[in-house]
Amino acid sequence: MVKKLRSIAVFCGSSNNVDPSYLDLASRVGTALAQADITMVYGGGHSGLMGAVARGTMAAGGCVTGVIPGGLFTNGIEAGDITTLEVVDDMHERKARMYDLSDGFIGLPGGLGTFEEIFEAATWTQLGLHSEGRTKPVVLLDQDGFWDGAHALLARSFEAGLLREKNVSIIQPAKAIDEAITLIQAGFTHETPAFVTPPRNKGA
Ligand code: AMP
Repeated sequence: MVKKLRSIAVFCGSSNNVDPSYLDLASRVGTALAQADITMVYGGGHSGLMGAVARGTMAAGGCVTGVIPGGLFTNGIEAGDITTLEVVDDMHERKARMYDLSDGFIGLPGGLGTFEEIFEAATWTQLGLHSEGRTKPVVLLDQDGFWDGAHALLARSFEAGLLREKNVSIIQPAKAIDEAITLIQAGFTHETPAFVTPPRNKGA
């Protein structure tokens, strides 16, 4: 069964020291989500692509939910600058909450924190750990080949027999924002992976 997308989490870099085109991409993703009436869920940061996607969504009249661990970061966004800011106890709770709030995930250029979130969210789809066992797709969006290395690694894993064919499409590439949203909509289903019974919503 396919359901209308209500929210997408955006995982992206917190660094300000990046090519302005990355900040622009993040801002345009925010605008597009607002225009599609899709709530943007993210890590509640103020800096880098994180701040840019939040400001882009808000400026276009959209909804932003930030989820941030209390006391861990000094560069969080001000609660009044976004629609909702949830403060949680730690990083594990934060990621679980972001996944729960989202129908799918867009990965923009980022560093280790971004990689962690992308691969964990995809693994939860593989294992059926998302709420109600839902399949929540992950789309890696870039315009300059930033994610080519990640897709090459996934292909290598598949060729080596380490990544199952049915799981290859959990993480997909996109070069355009509307393509990313369409891919998430197409892959967001209630199918429960056959090898996980019953579906659970708690993970690592
Ligand atoms: P990174 O790619 O290493 O910059 O990490 C970005 C990802 O990790 C984001 O999607 C956030 O969820 C989380 N993160 C890293 N730094 C921060 C920060 N200063 N404030 C909030 N979240 C952060």
